[in-house]
Amino acid sequence: MKSYSIKELLSSNLSLQEVTVKGWVKTFRSNRFIALNDGSTINNIQCVVNFENFDEALLKKVSTGAALEISGTLVESQGRGQSVEIQVNKLEVLGVSDPDTYPIQPKKHSLEFLREKAHLRVRTNTFAAVMRVRSVLSFAVHRYFQNNGFYNVHTPIITGSDAEGAGEMFRVSTLNQKKPPLNEAGEIDFKQDFFGKETNLTVSGQLEAETYAMALGKVYTFGPTFRAENSNTSRHLAEFWMIEPEVAFNDLDANMDLAEDFIKDVINYILENCAEDLKFLEQRLLDEEKSKPQAERSDMDLIEKLKFVSENNFKRVSYTEAIDILKSCTPNKKKKFKYIIDEWGADLQSEHERFLVEKHFKCPVILFDYPAKIKAFYMRLNDDGKTVRAMDILFPGIGEIVGGSQREERLDVLLDKIKELGIDEEELWWYLDLRKFGTAVHSGFGLGFERLVLFATGMGNIRDVIPFPRTPQNAEF
Ligand code: ATP
Ligand code: MN
Repeated sequence: MKSYSIKELLSSNLSLQEVTVKGWVKTFRSNRFIALNDGSTINNIQCVVNFENFDEALLKKVSTGAALEISGTLVESQGRGQSVEIQVNKLEVLGVSDPDTYPIQPKKHSLEFLREKAHLRVRTNTFAAVMRVRSVLSFAVHRYFQNNGFYNVHTPIITGSDAEGAGEMFRVSTLNQKKPPLNEAGEIDFKQDFFGKETNLTVSGQLEAETYAMALGKVYTFGPTFRAENSNTSRHLAEFWMIEPEVAFNDLDANMDLAEDFIKDVINYILENCAEDLKFLEQRLLDEEKSKPQAERSDMDLIEKLKFVSENNFKRVSYTEAIDILKSCTPNKKKKFKYIIDEWGADLQSEHERFLVEKHFKCPVILFDYPAKIKAFYMRLNDDGKTVRAMDILFPGIGEIVGGSQREERLDVLLDKIKELGIDEEELWWYLDLRKFGTAVHSGFGLGFERLVLFATGMGNIRDVIPFPRTPQNAEF
């Protein structure tokens, strides 16, 4: 007898055939109806047990969470809500689940409660749907780049350069922490450490990706990234996955085109390939929003919002224009913002980004040409001498989802900048070499994968779109 996934069975034409399925019990009603799920789809298959034919002791073991193997005849369903069901001929309990202690009961659990049970939460419909969408999105990322002539580069996770400048880093060291060797100046002697120098977990693969772009043309990295920033927000993780394409000969406009095309493509891909999960997540969001005041509810349902993003152009606005809008907007004048915008040069906070996207433009926004002072050293200086060719993409409900730039390709300008910031030139010798040997205009961006999953699933907290979140004071599992 052939074993099928529930997804296969529900979409098949196998009526009247004998089939075998394995999965976990979602519910067991009236000693008769088992809703079985195996993770292949959000939908359960109904398995109908004629209890007279089965041992009472065996049926007692059929409780929520138990693992079963069921064989029976696939028939058209009598009940509503499913096309086919299985009339059970043979039932084997592969693994029992103690109903008194199993935390994932068939009722609504809060997301906070489930975070404490991250090893079991994927057994809920919500997390299973989110994680399936996450997986399909990840595939869509590789698919997009591979279909468009990009090569995947595995940039290092342990980095020896502390000049990436994207945030606080996690030290990687094998030195005895209680009694580290000291040098003559009384400081920790990293020469004696594993790599003979200070090393950290990477905060970005960009600098290394640039070296590959300058030979392979179009490259991307998609890997884990670590930031020891103590920001306990719903949009920050200490360990997250970042997608970073880097393209030789692309200027900032081409970079914006790439980012926009890429995001639209992967969103279309999940719209086509995750329809049932997205429908479920949309309903979840609607239910959740019922308890919110009208003003905080979103104007669009999840799928509508995804379509809106994939079908409409992102609004491109310079930083300078954005500051003018923010300076004269109502929440700024009425001091509703936590950080009041009073002059050009201010760094934009999430509240400002979200105002621009959600209230002012009502669509995704690409801000470009930021003040050099608030951006990283490697961004290309504009002729005005005060702005750089940076771009951030801002999304509704999220704020910044992409940060990118055209890179400074002129050696002298880059050297001036490095000196101005007091960065050690020696540290970046290899990065500077790119500007000595065949330098060229090039650009790239970084997109936080979890922020994309947040947007795609309509979830509200980044801790709920990665299997085992790492945040300050939390590395359980
Ligand atoms: P933010 O201002 O939101 O903290 P950032 O400007 O520090 O982000 P970048 O250095 O530009 O972020 O990184 C590129 C992208 O990586 C961001 O646009 C975002 O999508 C994602 N990202 C950055 N930090 C985090 C984090 N701690 N957790 C999850 N994603 C992040
Ligand atoms: Mn950024």
